[in-house]
Amino acid sequence: MRNKIPRVRAKEQDAKIRATNFKEVCFGFNISEAQAEASRCLQCKVPGCVQQCPVHINIPAFIAKVEAGDISAAAKIIAKDSFLPAVCGRVCPQESQCEGNCILGKKGESVSIGKLERFVSDYAREHQIRFTEKAPSKGKSVAIVGSGPSSLACASDLARNGYDVTIFEALHRPGGVLEYGIPEFRLPKESVVSYEIETVKSLGVKIITDVLIGRTITVDDLLGKEGFSAVYIGSGAGLPKFMGIPGENLNGVFSANEYLTRNNLMKAFDSSYETPIFHGHKTAVVGGGNVAMDAARTALRLGSKVTIVYRRSQAELPARAEEVHHAVEEGIAFDMLTNPVEIVGDGNGCVKALRCIKMELGEPDESGRRRPLPVEGSEFEIAADCVIMALGTSPNSLISDTTEGLDTDRKGCIIADETGATSRPGVFAGGDAVSGAATVILAMGAGRTAAASIDKYLSGERSPL
Ligand SMILES: Cc1cc2nc3c(=O)[nH]c(=O)nc-3n(C[C@H](O)[C@H](O)[C@H](O)COP(=O)(O)OP(=O)(O)OC[C@H]3O[C@@H](n4cnc5c(N)ncnc54)[C@H](O)[C@@H]3O)c2cc1C
Ligand code: SF4
Repeated sequence: MRNKIPRVRAKEQDAKIRATNFKEVCFGFNISEAQAEASRCLQCKVPGCVQQCPVHINIPAFIAKVEAGDISAAAKIIAKDSFLPAVCGRVCPQESQCEGNCILGKKGESVSIGKLERFVSDYAREHQIRFTEKAPSKGKSVAIVGSGPSSLACASDLARNGYDVTIFEALHRPGGVLEYGIPEFRLPKESVVSYEIETVKSLGVKIITDVLIGRTITVDDLLGKEGFSAVYIGSGAGLPKFMGIPGENLNGVFSANEYLTRNNLMKAFDSSYETPIFHGHKTAVVGGGNVAMDAARTALRLGSKVTIVYRRSQAELPARAEEVHHAVEEGIAFDMLTNPVEIVGDGNGCVKALRCIKMELGEPDESGRRRPLPVEGSEFEIAADCVIMALGTSPNSLISDTTEGLDTDRKGCIIADETGATSRPGVFAGGDAVSGAATVILAMGAGRTAAASIDKYLSGERSPL
């Protein structure tokens, strides 16, 4: 009975060893492990896993090819819907997407779809297997702002469909959060991110880095003098939030975005680079999402003791369960039901401690989670020389401020309909720039939807608004 076969576990680096290096935590499946795991799939006629995949990969079909040992055919099936499979196989929250809707998960453990996707894409990369067929040129060009997963998904669909696509990226390397946010130990940059971006480029997509749209050139310029027929905005949500408490301007206080960017993009963890970062001895990370886990685990690998400070309880932690589990295994401490009220200085402009108050949970708030309330008189200090704020991000207003007729909501997110069309004719948007901080696969789904809408718009099949 297929559903009685136990789930195959992928091997991982030992927690004590990996806490001191930036090498990838999980080793992934080998071929026999992948085939054993693939053999658990029931090949459902109406597969719940596909319904819950934002890019609709034909999951049972690729799994059947893995079971049969035809990994190249499995890779071809995935490539039809995703050009970032090695990325998604590593960082997608599968537990709430495909695996969360796998029939086997109803009574036992779902098929390990993410690890299978990762195995197939790693195999394809190691064997230099790429699928880059495209339609003849349509003679029309589309500009894309930003080079994160949303933009890359939009670009690859448009390029395959015969459009000339140019991506403009503000930073010096493409990839968005995949490059500057998610650490090397979860998502290797050269072997995985760069390789998959090269696959998108092999479709003819041009990527121009160091161009800040809204400053170097505007969206109006792209549609006007630069001659693009449409623009897709996938500029993400990279503006960090702070708490507004005393002491946030002290030396040793970082936003998680800055901390992670310095490590990932500027390689501060690698002593051969000339862009170092402050190494704390005791680091407090404020927040409970994936970003907080990444910042905490990075600080740990730089040699610091680390405490995560979160105002709700373990049950409300928004980070993926796997990330929390890895952080605990690696020795990160958690101070739950705790909220900072002040960052205390040492008199010389540097951080000495994080002053906090204990919290208790009250009635549910508008998010449906129980509202944390301060416990009077419970203030205490956590000794720290480094504080990292991981409280969420929002879109930067640069593009909306400099684009005629582009509407945003009160959080600064670009308003787009379900097809990705914005209030400005010919301008489409998706990913975190529209939804606010979300996930890689949702951003990719939005990019693909917008690519289909741009095609209709440029083929005259839909009205410009
Ligand atoms: C630390 C961290 C960890 C995360 N972990 C996970 C995870 O494990 N799983 C998961 O699914 N999601 C995770 N996420 C969320 C996920 O990475 C994002 O939802 C996703 O990257 C959004 O994609 P995007 O293409 O919309 O934007 P981004 O990836 O943010 O890319 C936007 C790009 O646009 C560029 N840009 C911005 N403004 C301009 C401009 N004016 N001109 C030119 N270029 C511009 C930026 O430099 C950036 O490269 C994480 C996020 C962070 C920060
Ligand atoms: S829902 Fe699960 S068992 Fe069914 S096809 Fe998808 S992966 Fe296989």
